[in-house]
Formats: sequence, structure tokens, C-alpha cells
Amino acid sequence: MILAHNGITVPRLGLGTWQLTEEDCLNSVPMALDIGYRHIDTAQIYGNEAEVGKAMAKSTVSRGDIFLTTKVWRDRVGATFEDSVNTSLNKLGTDYVDLLLIHWPVEEVPLDEQLHALHAVQKAGKARLIGVSNYTVEWLNRALEMGISLATNQVEYHAQLSQKPVLETLRENNMFLTAYSPLGRGRLLKNEVLGAIASAHNTAPAAVLLAWLLAQDDVVAIPKSTSRSHLEANFAAQHVTLSADDIAQLDTLTKPDGRMINPGFSAKWDTGVGQPVV
Ligand code: NAP
Repeated sequence: MILAHNGITVPRLGLGTWQLTEEDCLNSVPMALDIGYRHIDTAQIYGNEAEVGKAMAKSTVSRGDIFLTTKVWRDRVGATFEDSVNTSLNKLGTDYVDLLLIHWPVEEVPLDEQLHALHAVQKAGKARLIGVSNYTVEWLNRALEMGISLATNQVEYHAQLSQKPVLETLRENNMFLTAYSPLGRGRLLKNEVLGAIASAHNTAPAAVLLAWLLAQDDVVAIPKSTSRSHLEANFAAQHVTLSADDIAQLDTLTKPDGRMINPGFSAKWDTGVGQPVV
């Protein structure tokens, strides 16, 4: 499944690589490419750009067929922005990424400076699309006021965490939502409602969670796995068609405390949208 942003094709199911270090990364990325994944999500802070690069270089899948994302970490959004991107590209063994994101909102550097640095990298041909991550509606609106075209906001999104205000804002601005931790870090998979729907479709609970996301326009999901069978089950989500009743049941899993990723440097999250559990 794909979507198109300004004529650029984005595979709607990608491979997340957070915590895939060394051997795990060198195993998972080739397995995923072999299964058919054509979208890989990494970040400077994951410490695995070199391994992602190595895995891509060894693959028979050509670079041009892979949609590759990386993210600029918080301490590099100022004067060292472009140097940090050049370092990422060196590690990844490529001249460009398909999508470059600012990883988190950062207060300490003026937002227009951060976005102009991001845009400059795009204008230099080093990123086909640009965007942000972990932005709230308020941060998105501040960013959009600068008039720089952004493709996506990558945020935590799964059946336990509503992202309605963020998704509506993105749609209004011709952007898509990239759902991270789409399986709730694996913690949602034992849910009974989910289990019953998965059995009825003869598929894995993870595939149902992903199908719930893929049933929504303008949503991309990037589950991570170290296991071939899990990677296959997740990829198969693209063939799971949920009924309106399945979707209505999954919608009821949303919790006010459904957020799982909430570091101390987060912006103040949109109210009523999944207050943190940790
Ligand atoms: P996730 O993809 O929601 O869940 C990963 C967990 O689920 C792993 O423990 C994995 O274990 C398990 N799993 C995967 N497929 C499964 C299946 N079919 N059946 C059973 N268990 C399964 O969590 P995530 O890694 O936090 O999020 C995905 C990606 O989003 C990250 O890797 C990263 O690329 C991105 N992300 C971005 C941000 C950001 O700030 N922008 C933050 C967090 C994550 P196995 O390895 O054993 O399969």
C-alpha cells in the first residue's frame, strides 16, 4: 500500500528500527527487504544508521526502491544541523534520504532557524521530503506558519492512543501521519477484543492493529520486529480488511492514559489525547 505526497510515493507500511542495534539491525533490515518492505525508519539517536546503510548496500533491492527516513536529534537542530545530516548520509551510504525529520520539538533554538536548516538540506537535494516528529497541534501550527512545506508528523499512534486533533490538523494541511509504536511497543497484543477480531480474520493480533491504522486515510505505520515471522505477520496487515464493526470495536480501546513514550523533554501533549502512563 502506498500514498503519494507531492508526487513522491510513500509505502504505508515500513520497518521501525529503534533499539535494533548491531546484529539485530543487520538481520532485520535484510529480512524485511526480502519480505517486501520498502520503507525503513531510522534516526541519528538510534545509533544504527551505519548498520542500516550496510544492510541496504548488501541488498539486491536498489536504493531508489527504498523509502528511507532519518531524524535529526535534539542537540543538532542548531548550528550543527547540516553537518549532522552529512554524517548521517555518510553512515547510511547514500547521497539523500527520502524523508528527514526533526525528531522532537526543541525550545532552545528558534523554530524558524530549525525549519530553515531542514529546508536548506532539502533544497540541497539531500532529503526528498521533510517533516517533524512528536509535534503537538500547537507546534504544528507554529511550524506551518513559516510557510515551509512539511510532509509528515511522526507520532505515537495505536488503538490505545487517539491522535484525532493531530490527524485532523495534518489532513487540513495536506500532510500525512506516520504512526510510531503502532503495536503499542508490543504491549497491546494480548487484548481480548483484538484477539477475537484476529481469530475471526485468521490473522495475527499485530496485523489487526496495523490494519486498523491502514484503514485510515493519510496514515503510515512503522512497526519494528527482530523476528521473521513477526515481520511477515505485520506485512500481511496490508491484506486484512476490517469491517466497520471491527473498527468500531477497536476504537473503544482508546484510553486517556494510553501514551507510552513520554520523555521529560516532550512538549505539553494535546489535552485529552492519551495522558502518559510512564
Ligand atoms: P512497536 O513497533 O509498536 O512494537 C515493537 C515490539 O512489538 C517489539 O517488542 C516486537 O518484538 C513486538 N512485535 C512486533 N511485531 C510483532 C508481532 N507480529 N507479534 C508479536 N510481537 C510483535 O514499537 P516501537 O519499536 O516503539 O515503534 C516502531 C518504530 O517507530 C520504532 O522502531 C522507531 O522506528 C519508531 N519510533 C519513533 C519514535 C519517535 O520519537 N519518532 C519513538 C518511538 C518509535 P519482536 O522484535 O520480538 O518482534
